[in-house]
Amino acid sequence: MSINEEEFNTLSPSEMKEYVKEWSCVCNEYSEKWHYLDSVEKEINSQIQTNALTGLAFCCNPCVGSTTSNANTQLSQQRTKLKVCPKCGSSNVAKVAKYFKKQ
Ligand SMILES: [Zn+2]
Repeated sequence: MSINEEEFNTLSPSEMKEYVKEWSCVCNEYSEKWHYLDSVEKEINSQIQTNALTGLAFCCNPCVGSTTSNANTQLSQQRTKLKVCPKCGSSNVAKVAKYFKKQ
């Protein structure tokens, strides 16, 4: 059971908390379908931000700085992977938000 963005927006704030957001993706090239949780993308984004801040704090130490940027490169790649077709690597995809009620 899932609801779409429109239905989700009609819910009360307390009802919204009971749902998890998921992106349903379809590749426009081969109709490959996959999905990922919005929270996964947010988690990667916040990790990148934290790393960037840590990198700034240690900017005088080139060793820490490069470790941080390596970690962020990997995280960016992970984030990109969520959004491209796992089959053909195309970023020509259609995304639809879906909301699932938490168990
Ligand atoms: Zn594809």
